[in-house]
Amino acid sequence: MSFVSEVMDQVIAKNPSEPEFHQAVEEVVSSLALVIERHPEFRAAKIIERIVEPERVIMFRIPWVDDQGDVHVNRGFRIEMNSAIGPYKGGLRFHPSVNLGILKFLAFEQVFKNSLTTLPMGGGKGGSDFDPKGKSDNEVMRFCQAFMSEIYRHVGQFTDVPAGDIGVGGREIGYLFGYYKKIVNEFTGVLTGKGLNWGGSLIRPEATGYGAVYFAAEMLSTRGETLEGKTCLVSGSGNVAQFTTEKVLDLGGKVVTLSDSSGYIYDPDGIDREKLNYVMDLKNIRRGRIKEYVEKYKSATYFASDPGLDHNPLWNHKADCAFPSATQNEINGKDAQNLIDNGIYVISEGANMPTTPDGVDLFLENKVLYGPGKAANAGGVAVSGLEMTQNSMRLSWSREEVDNKLHQIMKSIHKACVEASDTYGTPGNYVNGANIAGFLKVARAMMDQGIV
Ligand code: NDP
Repeated sequence: MSFVSEVMDQVIAKNPSEPEFHQAVEEVVSSLALVIERHPEFRAAKIIERIVEPERVIMFRIPWVDDQGDVHVNRGFRIEMNSAIGPYKGGLRFHPSVNLGILKFLAFEQVFKNSLTTLPMGGGKGGSDFDPKGKSDNEVMRFCQAFMSEIYRHVGQFTDVPAGDIGVGGREIGYLFGYYKKIVNEFTGVLTGKGLNWGGSLIRPEATGYGAVYFAAEMLSTRGETLEGKTCLVSGSGNVAQFTTEKVLDLGGKVVTLSDSSGYIYDPDGIDREKLNYVMDLKNIRRGRIKEYVEKYKSATYFASDPGLDHNPLWNHKADCAFPSATQNEINGKDAQNLIDNGIYVISEGANMPTTPDGVDLFLENKVLYGPGKAANAGGVAVSGLEMTQNSMRLSWSREEVDNKLHQIMKSIHKACVEASDTYGTPGNYVNGANIAGFLKVARAMMDQGIV
């Protein structure tokens, strides 16, 4: 039996009904087959068997009361996946689709991503099946307090430092931090993505989107090209999508799509800065739907999501680059083929695991410049790491300083991916490059620290 099927059989048997976790593990382990051949010591120390097993899983009840006085019960999670190179670090996701398997896939990806950033951070992820949509600010606050009233005993600046993800932005981080400070009676950097007046870092909100665009620019530079004049498809309209659009504009490109879970807009004239400001206000302040965009801008068309379709029409427009920035598995095999047929040759993943395995295979076969999420979207957690550094030093860096550091980190992640994929005989394959480079640092640390 091959190394990959042996590991996968065990993972599937031990973690039934967690397809996203299986998918994430299989992709990484397939890349690592190349490494294991050259490093039998990792095999003997059961590094792979240990790295796929979370160090700790915390799962808890979250009861809270809505504005009408009705009681609700949600489920909360924190997956503490690996702490070989630093405290657990990774976001919190509040979305009705959240379950144990999804958070385990995200925590697993986070281990390799955090290693790639060059900063000392282990991997974790958490969240709840709570849906913030349609809730009042007071309801969101009460929910965040109920969440923190359990999780406070497991997190801490030297132990586990959560951040935002889908459904958890500045508002939620504020409520979570306020409650932690109250019950622990300590002002420490227990969360990242904090407000600027109370320990946050400049550029943290922008970091994931900016980083995904810097990564695309690095990939393009291997072919002597830039983003100037390139047409780009972006999905999502949340944090990552907004700042991806902003950086594409800065670098001279044009974004023609944005979406939310109800549908997408196509604006062939491009989403310029004024239109982007409108989207930011719509999504971050008014908490509206993307379809309102076409009422304001007549050049655009709105397409409602159609669950009966076997593909997402957002990915079926002529363009040069794509930045999936909504959620996992939003590009399937058919979408990948559509992207290729439409001339797209750069894909930089702002979202985590947005492409299904058959889609990834198509990108690799067709020599698309394909930057997988764990490399391309690592800018967010990298600036979270920089926020932790600033908190420890009790000072704040300027916007330019943080942005320069982010840019350098994205360049070094790109270089690490290129070097690892070359060294292991698959040049141009950023999937292998990211998995191998991310893995080696963690594996060596685990070897140094003994069987724990
Ligand atoms: P936000 O909550 O700010 O935005 C998410 C966007 O994606 C919204 O437009 C949302 O639409 C859409 N979306 C979410 N779930 C689905 C779904 N099941 N189907 C279709 N659309 C969906 O989240 P972020 O921008 O922070 O995160 C986006 C992606 O980027 C996620 O994969 C996240 O894990 C990843 N990421 C985020 C980082 C960060 O720093 N924030 C760091 C690294 C990765 P709607 O409003 O209708 O739900």
